[in-house]
Amino acid sequence: MIKVGFPRGLLFYDYYPFWKEFLKGIGVEIVLSPKTNKDILNAGIASCVDEACLPVKIYHGHVEYLKDKTDYILIPRYYSLYSREYNCPKHLGITNMIESSIENLPPLITPKVEIKDINHLRIVAKEVGRKFIINNSKLNKAIENGLKAQNEYKKMNYHVTSNTINKKLLILGHGYNIHDEFINMGLLKKLKEQNIDIILPEEVTYDEIQRQAKTLDKRMFWTNGKIIVGAAFSLIEKRIIDGIIYISAFGCGLDSVLLYIVEQRAIEDNIPMLTMTFDEQTGEAGANTRLEAFIDMLNWRCNYENKLSSLR
Ligand code: SF4
Repeated sequence: MIKVGFPRGLLFYDYYPFWKEFLKGIGVEIVLSPKTNKDILNAGIASCVDEACLPVKIYHGHVEYLKDKTDYILIPRYYSLYSREYNCPKHLGITNMIESSIENLPPLITPKVEIKDINHLRIVAKEVGRKFIINNSKLNKAIENGLKAQNEYKKMNYHVTSNTINKKLLILGHGYNIHDEFINMGLLKKLKEQNIDIILPEEVTYDEIQRQAKTLDKRMFWTNGKIIVGAAFSLIEKRIIDGIIYISAFGCGLDSVLLYIVEQRAIEDNIPMLTMTFDEQTGEAGANTRLEAFIDMLNWRCNYENKLSSLR
């Protein structure tokens, strides 16, 4: 059976349910790289250009892992997910970076994903599928099953948002920084162990994100940026969070802008906010200390009637 590698990085966390069902349906074997680990990080650092951000280096590491184990590697290039909005340029150029940095690659399949809604994946998937099968009805069925899996995944509600007495924190950041527990050193797990409820940006509807983004002075044309800012504004406005943790990756140009916008709003509304920037270092002590101090501050603040300042 033909083996198609799929790197577990970047928008893997958003769109893999589709690709998984689709690839299964067209009868190829999927080889998924493992969860990010030290070897993958080191391989990515060794092959990627120094200037890249941490998630892009890690993505290189996942491709390095797959390159000798597969007949092809599938790397969707997600240009645009909504009308007149774009992804970070590094998502757009990821295949060029990989081709120029990694030697002895198997053939790459690099569909350009430029969709206004999830159904546009049909067109992209048809092109990919035709490389492997000619049976149209099997191909169509694989696509429909992929879309169904994707829709179900999007509908999943990750979290309990009300009727609890626990602290609630909004965890902000790009999806791959939030969901890759190697990048963020298991932050979500650590919070859950302390009975802290977590709310993620994907729990806010896109209509609400749009409504909030319209309050910005300038139109935000990065989809991820709009989601991060829109989710923060919405939950601050609803007063249902006790604080915000922003997970950022070293080398991210977008985050330097987004952080400023969210911080200003958090200050105005007296919402405590902690920024955790993760880099290539893997020692957890510093991150744990900052997290503990932030949680202590939240508890203290709660006991003293919200009279503390909100930041840092
Ligand atoms: S948004 Fe930031 S972290 Fe994500 S790929 Fe672009 S530069 Fe890297």
